[in-house]
Amino acid sequence: MIFDVAVIGAGVMGCSTALHLARGGMQVALLDRGAICREASGVNAGTLTMQMTRAALIPYALRAHEMWLRMPEWCDGGDVLAVACPGLSVAFTEQEAAMLEERAHFRRQAGAPIELISGGRAMEIEPGLSDQVLLAGHCPIDGFTSAYLTGRAFRPALLRAGVALFEKRGVTAVDRQPHGFTLQTTAGTLRARRIVLAGGVWLEGMAAWLGITLPVKVLVNQLVVTERIRPVMRTVMGVASGLLSLKQYANGTVLIGGGWQGIGDRERGGLAVRAENFSGNVRLAAHTIPALRDARVVRAWLGLESETADALPAIGPVPGEPDAWIIGCVHSGYTSGPYFGKLLAQAIMGQEPEMPLFPMDRLLKKEAA
Ligand SMILES: Cc1cc2nc3c(=O)[nH]c(=O)nc-3n(C[C@H](O)[C@H](O)[C@H](O)COP(=O)(O)OP(=O)(O)OC[C@H]3O[C@@H](n4cnc5c(N)ncnc54)[C@H](O)[C@@H]3O)c2cc1C
Repeated sequence: MIFDVAVIGAGVMGCSTALHLARGGMQVALLDRGAICREASGVNAGTLTMQMTRAALIPYALRAHEMWLRMPEWCDGGDVLAVACPGLSVAFTEQEAAMLEERAHFRRQAGAPIELISGGRAMEIEPGLSDQVLLAGHCPIDGFTSAYLTGRAFRPALLRAGVALFEKRGVTAVDRQPHGFTLQTTAGTLRARRIVLAGGVWLEGMAAWLGITLPVKVLVNQLVVTERIRPVMRTVMGVASGLLSLKQYANGTVLIGGGWQGIGDRERGGLAVRAENFSGNVRLAAHTIPALRDARVVRAWLGLESETADALPAIGPVPGEPDAWIIGCVHSGYTSGPYFGKLLAQAIMGQEPEMPLFPMDRLLKKEAA
């Protein structure tokens, strides 16, 4: 059998692309070397944020925010327990306040409804907040999900849409054929007319299958979760520098993140928590929501996030490789993921995408033959 499309990598980007392609009538194979959404898309902080999303991505994030909140409607009941709540990004110093003003300005211009408010007003919205805040960005439409549910939410919808889901089937090489591609996998070959590379931090190696150099930076993000505690906050919190993301789940646990770096790499994954970054992250959280000083940490973990040289995504056709497409390296990519998958599927099906893609031409060099 020859599939219309083989999507390689089943994170949120690959799952959404595969689902929308299958619903558009294509025969789709979705392959992952592990289980679906068990890398960045299943271990991330689940923050749906306009305040941390780059201005260029805000229009996409706004549409994706809506998709997450209505996931059961378009994903056959699949649910990540998305919660809509206000988001606050706070500044403790004059320098952070200036940063906040500048970033809020550009994000507002891009359509994010972010207003700047005083520390006192921020405490009315978030009574648990420190009284040391000088200025805060307030976005009424942020929110969060339980990211570990992402694969469980997509799986039944993918299967019902007819996607052939191949888990624990890594792709090791891709050979171009006259009318498509042969994929070498850890369990035999598979043929497809088109391919979509959706490999997160592993996109660099995937691009190399096509003889293309696409440098992908790897961030080894740490996350920390507390024990269940009494309600201490009701917003999604961040700080202007971007070094904090904070939310409390309905079960009482508080998830602490913000891109503090751990030890690991693309080849071996996340290896170990970096102690000084762990304590820095937790102390910043407790500085922001003082009630967290009494909370005990239960667990910390690591996940790998991808970034291009200009920190903007690679989404679109692979230049010089007809029928090869790529999707990934999206900053705050969980927030915008489902919408970007939908847009790429539109392009692959020959439709004009609702919004522009992010062609990768700017990022790569084709190796000399
Ligand atoms: C700890 C952490 C916290 C984050 N917090 C947030 C947040 O709060 N909000 C937000 O918006 N974003 C957040 N992000 C970013 C977000 O998680 C990512 O941008 C997004 O999940 C990337 O999705 P993806 O599908 O591109 O990649 P991934 O989810 O990494 O999926 C890539 C898939 O490709 C598969 N694969 C790799 N190689 C092969 C191969 N050879 N063959 C087959 N399959 C292969 C992998 O197994 C993997 O499943 C966070 C990231 C991390 C790591």
